[in-house]
Amino acid sequence: MKPLWLSLLLITTLALTACSEAPPQVHKAKLFTLGTLVDISVLHQDQAATQQAVAMVESELGIINRQWHAWRDSPLTAINRQLAQGETVTIDASAYRFIKQAQTLAADSNQLFNPTIGSLVERWGFHSDDRPSSAPPTKENIAELLKQAPSMANITLTETTLSSNNPAVQFDFGAFAKGYAIDRAVEQLKQAGIENAIVNAGGDLRAIGAKGKQSWRIGVRHPTSAGVIAAIETDGDESVFTSGNYERFFDFDGKRYHHIIDPRSGYPANKAISVTVIHHNAATADAAATALFIAGVDEWPQIAQQIGIEKAMLIDETLTIYMTPQMAQRIQIETDDAQTKIIGNDG
Ligand code: ADP
Ligand code: MG
Repeated sequence: MKPLWLSLLLITTLALTACSEAPPQVHKAKLFTLGTLVDISVLHQDQAATQQAVAMVESELGIINRQWHAWRDSPLTAINRQLAQGETVTIDASAYRFIKQAQTLAADSNQLFNPTIGSLVERWGFHSDDRPSSAPPTKENIAELLKQAPSMANITLTETTLSSNNPAVQFDFGAFAKGYAIDRAVEQLKQAGIENAIVNAGGDLRAIGAKGKQSWRIGVRHPTSAGVIAAIETDGDESVFTSGNYERFFDFDGKRYHHIIDPRSGYPANKAISVTVIHHNAATADAAATALFIAGVDEWPQIAQQIGIEKAMLIDETLTIYMTPQMAQRIQIETDDAQTKIIGNDG
């Protein structure tokens, strides 16, 4: 016969097991699109519905990638050819919605987010799946491209047509399409009744709901070393986007050149090394992270305010972390090699 203490122990253990809930089952899918690894995580009771929704999302992301690809033969490169020839382009409702939102964000960012500088980005060698290996453009090259001054202000958009009064306009939505695609993906998941999910494209993401009783917890990459510099717990329905000088770059003659181009100078922006934005809408967060990166340490509060961004963090090359007060409330800094400064949103 078992001693009483052992029986009691067994009973308590069983009771504990019965009480504690099974850990939430997260359905995961990964695919390579939009130039990065996209990770979809869904927490939902109905497995069949989840699989169906994830398949729809995968197909939608693929469609957006093909539609707006800046250098492979795509509907976008066809639009660019037509605009260069001064032609009016016929567009559908989804293209209208896409370009319209990009135009608004460009205006709100004082055209620092400028998705019409495709020729400049191409000249810097970033219209390639591989790392650029050729020499950077010459001063003259850049001066020539800057003189043409393409911007979203050159674009006339109706619900069915698109035209430009500047033949130098060449779209490159690399700073926006990923966010837009994530918004579409989350819309589709919600329509399928899914309330808890993350769509994460290479560290840029939108999260809805939570992971069971816990919030989704997100790491922000350290801009100069391996690992994370900070963590964020998402709240409800939020996007977290980071633009960093470490994402795409090449070295030439001992100098590093990255892919976020200041449309005012024509050179890689050098007044930040990383910017992280939290905002409800992923497309806004994407374009804003790029714009604030370019605005740099002196001008970013003004641009953030214009775009309607309250939660943002900028890291400069001295590893000083600047944060809005609203960001400071939401982020945990997980490094001791940086100093933090909380700024007023009015600058
Ligand atoms: P990532 O794609 O690494 O997340 P971003 O969102 O900041 O980074 O987008 C950078 C991309 O946007 C570049 O690779 C280029 O295609 C495009 N781009 C570069 N400079 C600008 C700019 N000033 N405005 C809009 N798009 C830009
Ligand atoms: Mg961006």
